[in-house]
Parts: sequence; structure tokens; C-alpha cells
Amino acid sequence: MAVLDRPSIDGLKASLRGELLQPGEPGYDAARVIYNKMIDRRPALIVRCADEADVISTVNYAREAKIASVSIRGGGHNVTGFAMNDGGLVIDLSRMRGIHVDPDTQTVRAEGGCTFGDLDHATHAFGYAVPAGVISTTGIGGLTLGGGIGNLTRAYGLSCDSLISADVVTADGKLVTASATKNPDLFWGLRGGGGNFGVVVSFEYRMHPVSTVVGGPVIYPVEKSREALRFYRDYMASAPDDMSAFFAFLIVPDVEAFPAPLRNQRVCAIVACYTGPMEKAEAVVKPLRQFGPPLLDAMGPIPLPALNSMFDFTLPIGELQNYWKADFVNEISDAAIEEHVKYGAQVPRAPSLMHIYPVNGAAGRVGKDDTAWAYRDANYVHIIAAIHPNPADNAQGKEWVRGYWEGLHPYSAGGAYVNFLMDEGQDRIKATYRDHYDRLASLKRTYDPTNLFHMNQNIPPA
Ligand SMILES: Cc1cc2nc3c(=O)[nH]c(=O)nc-3n(C[C@H](O)[C@H](O)[C@H](O)COP(=O)(O)OP(=O)(O)OC[C@H]3O[C@@H](n4cnc5c(N)ncnc54)[C@H](O)[C@@H]3O)c2cc1C
Repeated sequence: MAVLDRPSIDGLKASLRGELLQPGEPGYDAARVIYNKMIDRRPALIVRCADEADVISTVNYAREAKIASVSIRGGGHNVTGFAMNDGGLVIDLSRMRGIHVDPDTQTVRAEGGCTFGDLDHATHAFGYAVPAGVISTTGIGGLTLGGGIGNLTRAYGLSCDSLISADVVTADGKLVTASATKNPDLFWGLRGGGGNFGVVVSFEYRMHPVSTVVGGPVIYPVEKSREALRFYRDYMASAPDDMSAFFAFLIVPDVEAFPAPLRNQRVCAIVACYTGPMEKAEAVVKPLRQFGPPLLDAMGPIPLPALNSMFDFTLPIGELQNYWKADFVNEISDAAIEEHVKYGAQVPRAPSLMHIYPVNGAAGRVGKDDTAWAYRDANYVHIIAAIHPNPADNAQGKEWVRGYWEGLHPYSAGGAYVNFLMDEGQDRIKATYRDHYDRLASLKRTYDPTNLFHMNQNIPPA
């Protein structure tokens, strides 16, 4: 553990409105819990910032004290565990969850530690939504900075596509605004480039008029997965943009919401979210109800926040071991479907999963070089995730993920969605950013020349 200078820690503490936690102090162990239980790290200091001033003091302290590892914790969901470190300092934003909705301008400003459930809660009251993910406990910080894919991707784009501006504390301790007109280079990098460029203390988003949608899961027998994947591929190829639906292999949760004979069964499913005109909804979702026939059709009108949090209970924070691998995909080929059929039916333990998320529609129409996100031409992202409570299952889970991923990777577009990457090295990061990588590295040199913020999918300064 790094030996940190006592008097200067006291100086930092005195400057804070939030809390400073050190090993052994009450609250320290709770504060270092993050989503992936595989990660058990012990920072020397966790600063639970209350406001922008706390973030500025903490960044200045970290830089001046030459702290070797500085992490930024938003929602704590990233499975790499970059939000925590051993022996360094954590800038913890989880107390910074203020939100202000402006219905007149159809915008919302949310502090950097908000979850996307916080954002949904605030915007839904006004009949609006911001595109986010499919599990509402995810932090908007990591989600937006990495891109953000979910139930509204095809209708309204990635989370970062709705970003209007961001207030950022950069490595020199300055608060800067990034938008189309202020520091546009930084604004470009924040939309997909991850947490490389500073601490985003607040995000300003455009809201979209979405309230009640038609959505939910339709479950099919795993024995029909070949036909189901072909059906999904063909259905999505002609579906309107206001239909975002993801494909899943899973083990049905052992809870009362599901019929008893289905519980603990390996199945495949399509989880739909239709945001278009209600009078057209039935015609759009009908093919999903007719294919199969389904083992369970739980689709129907539902408030968007309810759909966005429907599966939260399956993925509680700090309780599950997680090992993930992912890729961007241009086309779900017949050969790829054979790999899915082989491995999808062998999901090892609940709640392990394979998901295929569409990233086309509105997200695909954003210009290739308009943001740092480098795969506007991809149609899908697939993610294979071994998730289970018992560390004894890790070896089997990893073997399943690796075998499945190796089988699929030759049919992928090469790189992976940065928020689904684990600690996989520079080659994977370069494949993810393609020809945007060099521009990101130059931007890093401008905003973080000493790589203070390197606990992330790191782009070292050029
Ligand atoms: C259960 C679960 C469900 C998920 N579902 C989806 C989904 O539907 N769609 C999707 O796109 N992704 C999804 N993800 C992936 C998710 O987007 C990433 O894990 C993301 O990094 C989480 O952000 P966070 O703020 O919660 O994480 P953290 O671990 O707190 O942060 C991750 C990294 O982001 C950076 N960061 C976070 N906040 C800030 C900030 N305010 N300023 C600067 N840098 C910051 C830091 O580099 C940090 O290390 C899911 C993850 C989990 C575990």
C-alpha cells in the first residue's frame, strides 16, 4: 500500500464537504463495494465527493501528491473494476446524484454519480426519457462516456448521442464545459472515449418524448434457438427504428414472476421495446408473438422506467462474480448462428447470459467521425457473460465465455464496445477505436498529459 503523506491528507479532508475514508474507518468497506464481486481492491483513500469543489480539491491533491492510481467511481458497474484500485485514491461520485429537468427546453442536467434509474425517475415525471441501458442501476457516468446502448438505441441513438454538454474537472484541476461550441474537441472525445479526459461532474442531455412503451420479454424453447436467431435477424432487418429488441440466451430466474415449469430452464428470448405510435404497436410486435410459439409472452404496454428496471433483481451490485467478453457485429451470419446454437444452450449458471443488442437505427445514422464511438457501421454488439454467486464456478464460467467468444470472434467486426471490455490490453482498445485512436491519444495529451486518469480502458497521451 502506498504511504501517503499525513499532513496533506488532513489538508484535503479539511477542504471537503463530502467524506474522506481510509482503511479501517467506518464506511470504508461499504464504499469499496462495486458491481463485480471478483474485484476486491483496497484504496488508500476514498473521497466521497459532495460537489464540484470536492472533485477539484481531490484532483489537485491526487496530482500534487503524485498518487500512482487514481480511479473515478460513477455507478461502480464496470466489470473491470477500474472504479477501485489498490493503494491509490478513488474519486467517488456516488453522493453526487442531483438532477434538474427543464421541460421548456426538453433538457435535463444530471450529476456525474447518477444511475440511469435516477435519470429515468426524473425525466419520466415529465413524459420524457434519455437513451440509456437495460439495467437501471448502471451509472450514467461510465455508460454515457463509453457510448450507452439500451432500449432506446434504435429510436434515439446512444446515450452519448443525446449529450448536449458536460462539465468536466480536468487533470489540472480546472472546471471546463464541453459542448458543440465550447471545447468541441473534448466534447467529441467524451462521446465514446470513456473516462480518459477528466471527471465529468454533470451531464446535460436532450430528452425525448417517451413514456409508456410496448415491451418486455418473449421466451422461446432453446431447442428452437437456430430458427429464433434467424427469425430475429430477419425481423430486425425490416423492423422500424422505434423497435429496439435484443436477443438473449439465459436461464429463467427462479422467481414467482415466471411460471413454475419455466423456472431454471435454459431458454432463448427476445426482449422488445417499441416506442412508436400505440395504434401501430400490435402490428409491429405481432411477429414476435407468432414465432415459436413462445413459451411465455410477457410483452405489453409498460412505463419505460419499469421496463428499464425489470431485470435489475437478477444482477445485484456486489454479489456476483462476472467474466465478460464482447464484440461488434456487422451481420449475424448462418455460421455465427451455429456457434450461438452450440454454446447458447450451455449457459452455465444463472444469471449468466449472452445478449445481442442492436446498435443501428438512429445510432447508426450519426456520422462516423462525429463522436469518438468508432463503429457506426456495426449493426449489433454481442456480449457473453459468465455471472454467478459462487467463486467455485469461475473456471467453468470463463471456459464457456472464452469458447463461445472464440467461436464467434471470426464473424465479428473486430473491436468491442468499450463498456463491455474487461482488462484485455491495448490491442483490443485500438481495435475498439479504429482510426479514432490517434485523435483520442492527441486529445489525451491536451487534457491529461501525465495520464493521471489511467484507471480505465486507457488511451495513453500521444
Ligand atoms: C449489470 C450491468 C448492466 C449493464 N447494462 C448495460 C447496458 O444496458 N448498456 C450499456 O451500454 N452498458 C451496460 N453495462 C455496462 C456499463 O455501461 C459499464 O459498466 C459502465 O462503465 C458503467 O458505468 P458506471 O458509472 O456504473 O461504472 P464505474 O465502474 O463507476 O465507472 C466505469 C468507468 O467509467 C468512468 N467514469 C464513470 N463515471 C465517470 C464520470 N462521472 N466522469 C469521468 N469518468 C467516469 C471511469 O473511467 C470509470 O472507471 C452494464 C453493466 C452492468 C454491470
